[in-house]
Amino acid sequence: MKVLSVSSEIFPLIKTGGLADVAGALPLAMGTHGIEMRSLLPGYPAVMHKVGKTKKVATIASLFGEKANILSVKYGGLDLLILDVPAFYRRDGGPYTDALGKDHADNWKRFAALSLAAAEIAGGLIPSFKPDLVHAHDWQAAMTPVYMRYRSAPEIPSVITVHNIAFQGQFGPHIFGELNLPPEAFAMEAIEYYGDIGFLKGGLQMASAITTVSPSYAREILTPEFGMGLQGVIGARFAHVSGIVNGIDTAIWDPQNDPAVATPYSSKQLNKRVSSRYAIERHFALDSDEGPIFCVISRLTWQKGMDLLMETVDDIVAQGGKLVVLGSGDQSLESGLLNAAARHQGRIGVHIGYDEPLSHLMQAGSDAILIPSRFEPCGLTQLYALRYGCIPVVAHTGGLADTVIDANEAALAAGVATGFQFASITGYGLRQTLARVFAVWGNKSIWTQMQKNGMKSDVSWDKSAASYASLYSRLISKGN
Ligand code: ADP
Repeated sequence: MKVLSVSSEIFPLIKTGGLADVAGALPLAMGTHGIEMRSLLPGYPAVMHKVGKTKKVATIASLFGEKANILSVKYGGLDLLILDVPAFYRRDGGPYTDALGKDHADNWKRFAALSLAAAEIAGGLIPSFKPDLVHAHDWQAAMTPVYMRYRSAPEIPSVITVHNIAFQGQFGPHIFGELNLPPEAFAMEAIEYYGDIGFLKGGLQMASAITTVSPSYAREILTPEFGMGLQGVIGARFAHVSGIVNGIDTAIWDPQNDPAVATPYSSKQLNKRVSSRYAIERHFALDSDEGPIFCVISRLTWQKGMDLLMETVDDIVAQGGKLVVLGSGDQSLESGLLNAAARHQGRIGVHIGYDEPLSHLMQAGSDAILIPSRFEPCGLTQLYALRYGCIPVVAHTGGLADTVIDANEAALAAGVATGFQFASITGYGLRQTLARVFAVWGNKSIWTQMQKNGMKSDVSWDKSAASYASLYSRLISKGN
């Protein structure tokens, strides 16, 4: 089976969040199911620089007025197709923003182009790779099923995966004339969205199947609170919606073999975590004492509940805990956390920025990770934490609810707890849960048991890859 995956970021080439991790890990996991997955992504400067020599496999003479080359290259086990359109993608800044962090004004065109190129590949642009199915990720690739339907490959099934419904790719109606679509596409059953154009909306309407990254999130996005305006569209297509929890790359995230960890360890050598703990204390200039170290590795945003964290920092310190934060995002949250660190020198450390090795070290040396997200489609940091014996303390929402077993009485009695959940996603709810965390921290044998339970849980791609493989097979045998 040949599958084309389409996404705007892919680890380890370019990453702003969990989407990249999934897009980078899924193709490798699908290989074991006999699926040849090739991944289309834009040729950003970082990508072009890292991949080295490429081979041109196709050209589109005019893609939104620009000549586009499709370049093929293998990179770290990934079979990549790079959409090289210098005018669209060879820019400073991130994949979506300029060097000052502002969205590019022509993002609609940049990602409509990605989708249109994907649809052309689905339609046979590359003779040696004619996909049986196309898998598009998030709004940036969401127009792929739309272009397939109207332009190139209506017979080939497509899957769209929603990693976060908060990002929808909504643009003014004035762009419609430039999208290369027939007039009937500007309709409620297609891409029209409250008078505007909705890329994700269009993809949800046209894809053969919709997946999201956890069963709980699949249910949540049917409600106005989580659906962010798209709950009706999802509801109307409910029979085609499913939730498949993400896995993690257990080779990259392996405490026994991770260059970023101070001393490698297994679940039988938890005492070796202490060297990573010391390394964290040095990095963040923390006191060296026995109190639990809580970590946060996150975008610093409202979605991630970072304002709730701020309401809790004094409490953590008062109870003898320490807190280390790695992240960047909203300026007010960044400065609020830096202020907290200044107020609590030796107890709170904040590192503003993005640092992949440090994130590994923090998982290896912290005792618990705090994830107070208001919504969380899947979440990856709790999965890394489980694998590293760092106990997740999470909001009861989306994938967090699906992957962490709360240390309630029943779970403790059965010896299966892996973390802590709180249902009231408020500062008060988090503080109440922290009281439970400190209580268990006082009982080392339960704490250690929970660490071991977490490290034993299956967070690999095995189960999820099997679910995607069976979804693909079903769709292909049914035909679109
Ligand atoms: P989201 O995709 O919503 O940001 P996820 O939990 O799904 O959240 O994925 C976030 C990913 O980004 C994880 O791999 C996490 O380790 C990583 N991450 C987030 N912030 C940072 C940071 N400042 N430095 C290093 N890695 C980070």
